[in-house]
Amino acid sequence: MKNKSKINKILVVIVLTICLPLNVSHTAHAFDLNTINGVTALPMDYINNYYIARTCSSSAFYPILNAVNAWNSAPPTKFRFNLVNGPVNSNYNGSVGDGISTIGQPISDSELVSLGYYSSVAVNFLTGTVNGPYFLVYESDIVYNTSAIFGIGDSVNFFDWQGVFTHELGHSIGLNDIYSYSGGISNLPTMWYTDTYQQYNNVSYHLRSLTTDDMNGKAAVALIRDF
Ligand SMILES: [Zn+2]
Repeated sequence: MKNKSKINKILVVIVLTICLPLNVSHTAHAFDLNTINGVTALPMDYINNYYIARTCSSSAFYPILNAVNAWNSAPPTKFRFNLVNGPVNSNYNGSVGDGISTIGQPISDSELVSLGYYSSVAVNFLTGTVNGPYFLVYESDIVYNTSAIFGIGDSVNFFDWQGVFTHELGHSIGLNDIYSYSGGISNLPTMWYTDTYQQYNNVSYHLRSLTTDDMNGKAAVALIRDF
């Protein structure tokens, strides 16, 4: 596929994010919180309902369930995702701004280009409202690029559905991409920003498992939001 090499460059981005990450200086923690329009972007509620998009590939259903369960298992478990209607029978198409969060809406690379997200494998469109120092997110629509090849497992030939969705749901939790990491591949944070790491050409499978940093990020958001 001619676009594959280009798609490989960037795993994910967050729509509505204007500011580039500024915290290159390191603090004690490795996770980073989302920032949108200069304010911290965090979930509005501790229960985050999602519909699997009507047009989502059926091969993504169980990877999505597993990705949701990974985050839901991290404390505090009260702060969680809730798949409404399960993986089938969704009537929602993933429209951004309709107040309904969806996951698994396919989108063409050309449409992503028109939106400024060329070469992204998946994108999380976050919709919210500014409230004091926060951008409170009440809707998240997670889409995947139909030019990218997806599958299940650890392979350089496709992106792992579960790993990609686990990463994107991390943005819904309130976490930003992690740009600095130097440990082993087995502890690669879910919020790692791209699909390559050291000599590894496709690390999407390694994004399935939450690391301590990822879980600390969720706990930090819960503390800030009093969830
Ligand atoms: Zn990301």
